[in-house]
Amino acid sequence: MNIITRFAPSPTGLFHVGSYRTALYAYIFARHNKGKFILRIEDTDKERSKKEFEENIIESLKWLGFDYDEFYRQSDRTEVYKKYIKQLIDSDRAYISKETPKEAGERSEVIRFRNPNKKVTFEDIIRGRIEFDTTELGDFVIAKSIDEPVFHLVNVVDDHEMGMTHIIRGEDHISNTPRQILIYEAIGATPPKFAHIPLVLAPGRSKLSKRHGALAITEYRERGYIPAALVNYMALLGWHPTDDRELLTLPEIIERFSLERVQKSGAIFDEEKLRWFNRQYIAKLSDEEFSSYASSYVPEWIAVSSPDFKRLLPVLREKITVLADIRTLLSPEGELGFVQEIHPHTAEQLLWKKNPVKESARTHLSKMEELIAAVPTDAFTADAVKVAIWNYVEANGKGDVLWPLRVALTGQDKSPDPFTSAYILGREESLKRIGEALKKLV
Ligand code: GLU
Repeated sequence: MNIITRFAPSPTGLFHVGSYRTALYAYIFARHNKGKFILRIEDTDKERSKKEFEENIIESLKWLGFDYDEFYRQSDRTEVYKKYIKQLIDSDRAYISKETPKEAGERSEVIRFRNPNKKVTFEDIIRGRIEFDTTELGDFVIAKSIDEPVFHLVNVVDDHEMGMTHIIRGEDHISNTPRQILIYEAIGATPPKFAHIPLVLAPGRSKLSKRHGALAITEYRERGYIPAALVNYMALLGWHPTDDRELLTLPEIIERFSLERVQKSGAIFDEEKLRWFNRQYIAKLSDEEFSSYASSYVPEWIAVSSPDFKRLLPVLREKITVLADIRTLLSPEGELGFVQEIHPHTAEQLLWKKNPVKESARTHLSKMEELIAAVPTDAFTADAVKVAIWNYVEANGKGDVLWPLRVALTGQDKSPDPFTSAYILGREESLKRIGEALKKLV
């Protein structure tokens, strides 16, 4: 069987991780089976559907790397639905119903499905057998007029016309399935297989929502999550491979995935865990990849083509969890704020608290100036600086020597170690700052 699945979002809002996790499962199931994956925008609700949300969905899927083989938009397909509505009315499976409008704007005529009022059962791949008596659903509305079909009808017609073999969607759609099965039967179609995925829950098991920390996918991009990290994390919200490995690339997930291993209970969205994944993925990036990601987050005063930026990269990579941390680190108050401009500091701040003697700070700092000046510009690395000064540091006390050096270079008491700071600043700037500090110590 040639597997066909789809993601069928209604563009009525910004979608969060939960929805894209469902899209991911439909996508990887199709790819695992060398089948087809379709994106279908379900925009029949004219009031609530917005073009900007459709664009956001397309952009998000592209960023996550979920390519689709076919694209449809329901508002382009009114003629297709019309044919089915006519067919249903002609065969008396649906009828034009006179209504008494209760509120202004309500229709005096709609098209209702003639409910056979029977028991419907289906075998859900995840939930098992589900039985439902449709009597209580009554003759439900399938179109407001011949040109205005509503959700249940269009959803079924499209899944049938597009040859869907598996409907993989959120478990909030289970209660829609009996109505939809009745429509499949009425149009003479065999229903596809259903797999209703448990919802993604917020910590505390409440429904995941924007209010509960779930952001739109594009917001995760802004904050500086790596798409592969998000995809990896989302895949594990309700599924895990047999070997319990956690770090998996998309091709590895595709290879290992099966719907049978999707759990029945809701998965909890844990931002801390997502952050952990992001760190792992940031660590795995090549230097070029990291540089290209980081370049969008550095402040304007850093030229991304400059050697200064290159020197900063390994330090940034080690310190961040999300790329947006780069902005914080390099802000004037940040740990790397000294790179742009040294924090103003006084002579007192240059003195080591356990030995606050000006003369000794001056002696050590001038020795630092001399030793650091001896490191040639083209070999000026953190290691080279450390090697150059280390014997002196050990002989004269770490606090006594390194404290004045740190403050001279950064003006901050929280900063990277002085070797790294010197390396980031470069030889000339480091010597300049040491010189300025020495002036304060006379
Ligand atoms: N358009 C529906 C929604 O966004 C999805 C329907 C389905 O997946 O069958 O909830």
